[in-house]
Amino acid sequence: NGLAVVMVKRGACGGCFNTVPPQRQADIREKKKLIVCEHCGRILAGVEDEVVEEAAPKKKRATKATKASKA
Ligand SMILES: [Zn+2]
Repeated sequence: NGLAVVMVKRGACGGCFNTVPPQRQADIREKKKLIVCEHCGRILAGVEDEVVEEAAPKKKRATKATKASKA
């Protein structure tokens, strides 16, 4: 019976990726009690809010090829 502690990521258990109900997430945030995932039984230690970052468009850099002028 190895206890595993996982985080809730994007509203889902970090262990089994099943959805964690908002009410349960609230309990985890408040850390009033030990919340375990009802699907896999892992301990839910906290809620991670991942900010989804869209890939920033890379600016094109004009590469100037400086040719050495022949004398
Ligand atoms: Zn789980």
